[in-house]
Amino acid sequence: MTDRQNRPEIEANKIELGRQLFARPVQFVKSVVGLEHLPNDALPDVCFAGRSNVGKSSLINALCNQKGLARASNTPGRTRELNYFNVSDRLYLVDLPGYGYARAPKTDIARWTKLTRAFLRGRANLRRVFVLIDARHGIKVSDEELMGMLDETAVTYQLILTKTDKLKKRAAQKILSATQDRIVKRPAAHPDIMSTSSEKKLGLELLRTEIAALALPSNAL
Ligand code: GDP
Repeated sequence: MTDRQNRPEIEANKIELGRQLFARPVQFVKSVVGLEHLPNDALPDVCFAGRSNVGKSSLINALCNQKGLARASNTPGRTRELNYFNVSDRLYLVDLPGYGYARAPKTDIARWTKLTRAFLRGRANLRRVFVLIDARHGIKVSDEELMGMLDETAVTYQLILTKTDKLKKRAAQKILSATQDRIVKRPAAHPDIMSTSSEKKLGLELLRTEIAALALPSNAL
């Protein structure tokens, strides 16, 4: 059989690997406020980052099929913690604190930047950061700042457009191509941007597939 003829089967296989990875309940592990408290084992980390209100907790909950797993970034006390979740003992899903909150005190912003930069520099297990962008608003200055840090530290990141259900098809295509144009020259940016809606459960299968490719293989247990 040629590669082309094999393709649908390969795709179905990949989708199944993504489904399997999230078939078991995802477990909250801990909230980390300092890097000395990071888990100390061989599991790879995959992070979710984005501005407050971008839809990060909704996406994590939809991805894991668990309501209430991740909490909104404006929950008091949640702005300074990295939240670790164990996915099938094959991967840590890390919820980075939301940023770009208009009324955030300067000391909070400084603390966020310090923690995030130290984490990006020091975490050898970090495989990818998913940077969430609200499809209605596109890339903002604070997103550019994060992408700058990721480029500097050579951590691969991939953009995910959220809340795409709020846009008509044409507008969604327009923001996707405008966003693509903004990252072409960014060295650590993954070229493929994903489009999701937690509300309508769109793009989740592809996201699970992408994450499964970064996880430890299931037979490594
Ligand atoms: P976070 O602060 O980034 O964790 O954002 P949340 O997940 O708490 O979402 C912020 C707001 O956006 C909430 O009112 C959500 O109901 C809403 N929201 C999140 N995802 C979607 C989505 O896919 N579609 C729509 N229409 N609204 C969404």
